[in-house]
Amino acid sequence: MNQASICVFCGSRPGTNPAFAEAAQKLGQLLADKNWRLVYGAGDVGLMGAVARAAQDGGADTFGVIPTHLLKREVGKTDLTRFVITEDMHERKKVMFMNSDAVVILPGGPGTLDEFFEVLTWRQLGLHDKPILVLNIDGFWTPLLELLQHQVRLGFADDSLLSFFDVVTDMDALTATLTVKLG
Ligand code: AMP
Repeated sequence: MNQASICVFCGSRPGTNPAFAEAAQKLGQLLADKNWRLVYGAGDVGLMGAVARAAQDGGADTFGVIPTHLLKREVGKTDLTRFVITEDMHERKKVMFMNSDAVVILPGGPGTLDEFFEVLTWRQLGLHDKPILVLNIDGFWTPLLELLQHQVRLGFADDSLLSFFDVVTDMDALTATLTVKLG
């Protein structure tokens, strides 16, 4: 494969645990070290900004996609290698996904959940087979993982749902899993 592109979905806020921003920075650095391209929502706020700045500082290629109406609110980061402006959220997610080989989920809010569920449900429907990695820093995503298990237990999803993504708790495991999955 040519240079791999990693789509990162994460909070537009930093959250209250400093470990989240630390993980975001480490991920940005990792992308640079591995010569993987960062694909993300092009904001310069919260964990999004932290990943992007660390990736840039390390010399990684960065590809950001942001809808017109969020340019101010999410502080569109125009100094990326590629900066794409879309008409709406749907187009943004589509462009990000089409330009990625794998998806990494960091801690985040409702927007991050929306993005995770979109790629997860597309996977469930067989629309793609891109690796999805959930970075469960300090147990942040544990309630979500329990909810998904609960849905399987109570018959609203097949067991296979839980096999469509990998959960990793640190950067070493993330690196190892991504490296294997990207082949
Ligand atoms: P959040 O996790 O809520 O901080 O949002 C993370 C990113 O998801 C931000 O770039 C938001 O603009 C984006 N986002 C928020 N709501 C949605 C949505 N309904 N669909 C797609 N992306 C969203």
